[in-house]
Amino acid sequence: MSKEYHCGYIGLIGRPNVGKSTLLNHLVGQKISITSHKPQTTRHRILGIKTTDTAQFVYVDTPGLHQGGKHAMSRYLNRAAASTMADVDVVVFIVEACYFSDDDARVLQRLQNLKLPVVLAINKVDQLANKDKLLPFISEMSTKMEFAAVLPISALKEVNLTELEQTLVKLLPLSEALYPEDQITDRNVRFLAAEIIREKLTRILHQELPYNLTVEIEQFKPDKEQTLIHAVIWVERDNQKGIVIGKNGERLKEIGRQSRLDIVKLIDHRVHLELWVKVKEGWSDDERALQSLGYKDEL
Ligand code: GDP
Ligand code: MG
Repeated sequence: MSKEYHCGYIGLIGRPNVGKSTLLNHLVGQKISITSHKPQTTRHRILGIKTTDTAQFVYVDTPGLHQGGKHAMSRYLNRAAASTMADVDVVVFIVEACYFSDDDARVLQRLQNLKLPVVLAINKVDQLANKDKLLPFISEMSTKMEFAAVLPISALKEVNLTELEQTLVKLLPLSEALYPEDQITDRNVRFLAAEIIREKLTRILHQELPYNLTVEIEQFKPDKEQTLIHAVIWVERDNQKGIVIGKNGERLKEIGRQSRLDIVKLIDHRVHLELWVKVKEGWSDDERALQSLGYKDEL
């Protein structure tokens, strides 16, 4: 008897900070997409692939759709999110329990026009002090749109993720696997290493983080003993350089230390990481500079 196999693309959609990247990482079981409590941490469309005996789930993480759009970076982020909606088989619309803002409403509005099954995932239920609020919130949400399913989840604590997967299998098209079963993302380790460094920058610099900062891997050389990595942190102004480096270079050292640990986990090899901070003026508002740093539209 031949077994029916399902495979398809699942868009993780929601406003910034609802937990899309966290959900992707926990569904796939490995850190692929970087996360932080700062909105707009995710800047790239990134796939997380999970293969089981019955299905292959290809999750698509996106920058959250957000307001504004004059800045080149901002336009790029919205394009990446919007093109994902058009491409996938199923959408998981993520909101926070029990909170529905104007930003959430704007995302929902765009989903209503799609002819796709939409599963509503109410995330961060672990944070909910009063669980009695959940049922009314579910009923209220259900009046806004016809969802294929509604599930309270916690991406971080992995609550109801198996149920989410079981719901999604039924909504995926019948198809053979599109990716090799051991592949977990469409990105190479070079890209993932740059993203890890960006995550540490985002987390360590916190409020002081220059919005327009990016990481470029100049060298990635696996050797017998260790992998040698040279990375440049690009900032836009001289004073930002000082912020990243910190007093006596302490900050940069800490960023390097934490990044190295995560990259070691990722590639399972010893890592020698060297970080430089350089200034390139106005890159984030220049379409061509954005492209040269890897912010290309992928359709
Ligand atoms: P994104 O912008 O939608 O990709 O959101 P992230 O995945 O970067 O998460 C934003 C913040 O919410 C991070 O600080 C996460 O640790 C946190 N977060 C995500 N999911 C959960 C969850 O289920 N419970 C709790 N308590 N925090 C979460
Ligand atoms: Mg994200």
